[in-house]
Formats: sequence, C-alpha cells, structure tokens
Amino acid sequence: MALRDALAHLDADELIALARDLVRIPSVVRPDEPGATEAEVAGYVERWFRAQEFAVEVQDVAPGRPNVLGSIGDAGAGPTLLLEGHTDVVTEGDPGEWAHPPFAADLVDGRIHGRGAADMKAGLAAAMMAAAAIQRSGTRIRGRLLVGALVDEEGDMQGARHLAASATGREIGAAIVCEPEQNELCLEQRGVVWARVTVRGRMAHGAMPEAGVNPIAALGALLREAPALERRLRRLCRRSPHLRPPTVTPTVVRAPLLGLAQANVIPSAATAILDVRLTPGPDESAVAKEIDRACQQAMEACPGATVEWEPVNGFRLATRVDRSEPLVRAMGRAVRQVTGRAPVFGGVPGSTDGTILRASLGIPIVTCGPGNRLIPHQVDEYVDVAEVVEAAGIYIASALNFLEG
Ligand SMILES: [Zn+2]
Repeated sequence: MALRDALAHLDADELIALARDLVRIPSVVRPDEPGATEAEVAGYVERWFRAQEFAVEVQDVAPGRPNVLGSIGDAGAGPTLLLEGHTDVVTEGDPGEWAHPPFAADLVDGRIHGRGAADMKAGLAAAMMAAAAIQRSGTRIRGRLLVGALVDEEGDMQGARHLAASATGREIGAAIVCEPEQNELCLEQRGVVWARVTVRGRMAHGAMPEAGVNPIAALGALLREAPALERRLRRLCRRSPHLRPPTVTPTVVRAPLLGLAQANVIPSAATAILDVRLTPGPDESAVAKEIDRACQQAMEACPGATVEWEPVNGFRLATRVDRSEPLVRAMGRAVRQVTGRAPVFGGVPGSTDGTILRASLGIPIVTCGPGNRLIPHQVDEYVDVAEVVEAAGIYIASALNFLEG
C-alpha cells in the first residue's frame, strides 16, 4: 500500500544528516551585520529541492532573505497542502554557556544539539524528507504537497506575509506548521497584540512639576491598569484546555522618547509596550475596545496627559481549528498509523507563521513537529532524533491521507 511504500522510502540516517547540515549553517538574522540572514541555509534548501527534482519557487522577500518552496504533485489535480518551516533561528547568546557548541550539531545520546535543532531545522528537515519519500516511492497524490522554508518567523513574519500574498500562497488549502510541539496535534495557538502606548504630557522643571504634565505618572497609571485589563480579556476569551488564559505583560517602558534623559527634566512623552496574549474568541475590535478603556482610565488619572496606543505589526489573533476539519482527521489517522498511539491534542503558547496564514488565507492550520515545546530559544537547545523520524512519518501519512481522500 501507498503509505507502507512511502514510509519504506524514508531514510532515517539521511534525515538526521540533513537536519544536522541545516543546524550547522548559522542563520541568526543580525540587522547590523550585512550578510547575516537566512540566505545560506535557504540556498542549501533550494539546491536540495532541485536535487530531488521538486518544482522550485524562490520568493525574494527582502534582500538576502528568500522564501524557498519545493513541491511535488499537481496543483490542478486537487488541494495544495503546505508543510511549513522557517529558516531563521534566534541568537545563540553566549556560546560559552552551551555544553555543545551552538552550531556544531553534535549528535550525542540520540539527540542533535544546537541552536535551531528544535526550532526548527529538524522540523523543516522532516518536512523535506517526507515529500522526498513520497516522491521516491512513486506514490501518486491527488493535488500538491508544498514544502515551504520561510524567512523571518522570529522577526515580523515577513516570509509568511509574503507567501500569503503570492499566487502560490493563495492556492494553499491547508497547512501543517512543523514547529516543535512534541508531535502533538495543536489545533489552537495563542494570539498576540503588542500594544505600543504613547503618553504625551508637557515638559517642565523637575523642581516645579506643577508647571508641566508628567507623562510618567500617566504611564504608571496605565501599568496599574494592566491586571484589570487582563481580567477583562480573560472574561472575553474562550477558556481552552490547551492554552494558558490571556495575559497582559508590560515589556518595554521608555521616557523621554527624544533628547537627553536628565534627572531634573520632566519629559514631554513616554511609551510602554504591553505584550497582550489572547486565546480564541474576541475579534480585533473587541480586544481594541478593552485596551482603549485601559488607556482612557490612565488618562483620567492624570489630567492634561493624552494616552494613545497602536498595535505593533497589527493584530495576530488566536487561532483555532475544529477537530472535524479534514486536515485534523487526516493527521489524527496519520498519528495512529505511524505511532500506533492515539493523537495527543495540544496548544501553541505563542504565535507562529501559521497565525499569519490562518488570518490572511482563512485556511485550517495544525501545528505539529518534533522537539520539546519549552526548549526553543534556550541555551542547550536539542531535539530527539526519534521524534524527528516520527514527525517525518506523521507528515508522510498526513499528506497521503489528506491528498488521497
Ligand atoms: Zn519556530
């Protein structure tokens, strides 16, 4: 049968070698360092796709920052399923804190060690090998299996935005986001809004505060409103067994905005960013209304100050797909076929490229990939080889179930 055939063409050693190759190519994006982008690893992925004789598309998202897409099958014959990964990784921090060098991809005790091992070069490698195994087995699929290696997930998700706006993006019918979730099927992802609050007052001498309006006082009032805002958002959002409830966390506070910071000068403006995390439920305007209210209350506490806010990078609302979705059913069956176990359902604590794809294309997304959910961005990041191989098997079976059925 097709699945057994395709699984037989999955070479675990080749998969692990591929994942290690990807980890060995550092792809921390450093805006101050020309050339420190995803370009090299993207080039590797492109050459690999071409060697497999996949159809290849390279999308120039920004200078030196290409999305690389490889596909098998025929878009005209059925739906397009995307296996999605990102090529950028976050900084390794201080390499001296690592037990294994961050870009050596050491293979020790059944684990690949290094920055990006879990988040998410192993998941990307599993997606690439899954498509190759189907191709090599000669199994026919109805539709197209697309493997996307996108840029900038750890930044502004420009790669996902670019893909969603492209002709290929508009053809995608469903997506599996291969982020490290311990191979659980995550049907929900928390959303995020970074609310940048700007307070304007009036500059004055610190010895004569009555001559000005201190924006820092209004900012303080706003920070005191954060717990109440959090409570209101918790009432507004749906409870989820897989996601932490909404949180409101101040992450940036700054004053003055321009000019010199001086001990005896009341600045004219101040700013803060609230990192607002959401679970599924409310729409943009309902969330905005609650943040407006917090700003209004801060303003009332400090006559003369104005308090305004804007979402940095827009609203990325929480996503949720139903268990009855064909993609979810295809994946649930795939987990049983490949592991012999029932699928474990989970939730993603943060947002991913899938958040963008779901919001802009309206397609169902499921996040499922190898790696401990808590390990991304930590020192001593690793991924278990067995989980990587299992993920590739799940992708193969999911693709066959989804694209045959
Ligand atoms: Zn990631």
